[in-house]
Amino acid sequence: MRKKIVAGNWKMNLTLAQGEQLVNDIVSAGIKLAEGQEVVIAPPFPYLARVKQLIRNYPGIYLAAQNCAGEKSGAFTGEVSAEMLASVGVDYVILGHSERREYFSETNAQLAKKIDLALANGIKPIFCCGEPLEIRKAETQNEFVARQLEESLYHLDAAALKNIVIAYEPIWAIGTGLTASAQQAQDMHAFIRSRIAEKFGREAALGITILYGGSAKPSNAGELFASADVDGGLIGGASLVAADFAAIIKSL
Ligand code: PEP
Repeated sequence: MRKKIVAGNWKMNLTLAQGEQLVNDIVSAGIKLAEGQEVVIAPPFPYLARVKQLIRNYPGIYLAAQNCAGEKSGAFTGEVSAEMLASVGVDYVILGHSERREYFSETNAQLAKKIDLALANGIKPIFCCGEPLEIRKAETQNEFVARQLEESLYHLDAAALKNIVIAYEPIWAIGTGLTASAQQAQDMHAFIRSRIAEKFGREAALGITILYGGSAKPSNAGELFASADVDGGLIGGASLVAADFAAIIKSL
């Protein structure tokens, strides 16, 4: 059985005190995780060690960073390496978020390097893929996403792939209030799984967790997560409100 995950990406929001309050509200919201279900919280870098302390007594709740450097160590002012993240107890790292691709020009090839560094340090990448609106309008989203997978993941072997989570995030649905329909999400997730099966085999494809991201909220999470190939969600805006995030987790 593959893991089901709800991950909250805080992006560049909240002070430390607000973040502590949010984590405390989430853990006291009465969430009961079934076997194979996980919650992942991705605060900004400076709060990682503190959030790790706050979640340490809650099995099933894990810590993610929102990015890591594409180099191992050295003179890269302002960067944070995968080894540093591992040293403060980070479990997952979000890589290839569309905001990183768009505002910081991250390429599929750079992401392949970051994935290798994360894996080498025992951190599981949550690899984001997804198409912009013009690609969706041209109905070439499958080719677009296939290329992202090929250029960032296909150099791995099946054993390494076991530590990868994929998040399908159509860019036109991120932070816009527009959500992909459950059918659009299911179609793309099934397509991604079929590509993984072609490259890594059926067992790898059946085992990989594929999250949906893009304006997921309590009112649509249940329908999205009910689709056969949707294994949970990567949540932006709604992860900043404890009651909403808890309600989405309960929809798993
Ligand atoms: C995201 O940034 O990964 C995301 C899905 O954001 P939102 O839920 O706000 O659309």
